[in-house]
Amino acid sequence: VIKQNNRNNYKVFETSISKDFKTMLTMETELRKAIEEQQFELHYQPQKDIGSEKVVGVEALLRWKHPEKGYISPATFIPIAEKTSLILEIGNWVLREACKQNKQWQNQGYTPVVVGVNLSAKQFHQADLVDQVSSILHETGLLACYLELEITESMAMSNEEDIIHTLIGLRELGVHVSIDDFGTGYSSLKYLSRFPVNKLKIDKAFIHENRKQNEAIVKSIIHMSHSLNMKVIAEGVETEEQLHFLQKEKCDEMQGFYYSKPLPATHVTPILQCVK
Ligand code: C2E
Ligand code: MG
Ligand code: MG
Ligand code: MG
Repeated sequence: VIKQNNRNNYKVFETSISKDFKTMLTMETELRKAIEEQQFELHYQPQKDIGSEKVVGVEALLRWKHPEKGYISPATFIPIAEKTSLILEIGNWVLREACKQNKQWQNQGYTPVVVGVNLSAKQFHQADLVDQVSSILHETGLLACYLELEITESMAMSNEEDIIHTLIGLRELGVHVSIDDFGTGYSSLKYLSRFPVNKLKIDKAFIHENRKQNEAIVKSIIHMSHSLNMKVIAEGVETEEQLHFLQKEKCDEMQGFYYSKPLPATHVTPILQCVK
């Protein structure tokens, strides 16, 4: 009886693995097609300075507009693209498109904002990343100080020598670097104080799960950032209460549904302010 059961279990297991595998292969083929047929779009989520209440940045967030399935979340397809070199092509497109759009807003006379671009681990670990960024800035005409690259803690932690080299190269270019989803990965205070990073982005889990322990963590991250001469932004701000708490604790910036969801570029334009 036991043998019989095992065999059945094994079968079920095998079927579900090959199904996942097929889904992955299908998605990989479709991702390739998506690049060719330009099915990607960037949405931008505004970031506000908490003190002045002005929009000071926008985070570029990738959207896949699938011809049959509609919008597919990056949380679904980025991990699959990451397993192949497709992520490099996609990442390159995102970087160029975000810089181009930001430059266009500046050309139209809006107060300059910083555009945040998420980097995948593979992208960040390319030996010539700094050169790639530099040539995209040159090509699009965007000044380096209006680009911020978002990396995660785990990306910053591995293979230290190369990482420091890349981070220094980016700093010399004048590009800003932030640590995304801060507090969810491995944080070593030693590397934080040594690495040239400009900003910490407090993970949304600490902001929108209203618990007393989280408030203590958020306070500590804010104070730590400031003592390390870094700026700090809270992600996932959804309520007025959360904003008031961040105001009280002197958090620099905020991003979240309370102010705005990620929007197509044309919807961001009206909320940017005109210079003059
Ligand atoms: P992330 O970089 O941490 O981006 C923030 C995510 O939180 C976005 O999800 C955004 O829509 C969501 N969010 C913003 N405000 C709120 C809020 O108030 N409440 C809640 N519940 N969520 C909020 P999205 O757009 O689905 O992106 C998910 C993740 O996919 C991103 O997390 C990032 O890690 C990755 N991603 C997105 N675009 C790119 C890209 O161009 N390249 C790479 N490598 N990764 C990307
Ligand atoms: Mg991000
Ligand atoms: Mg994040
Ligand atoms: Mg994330």
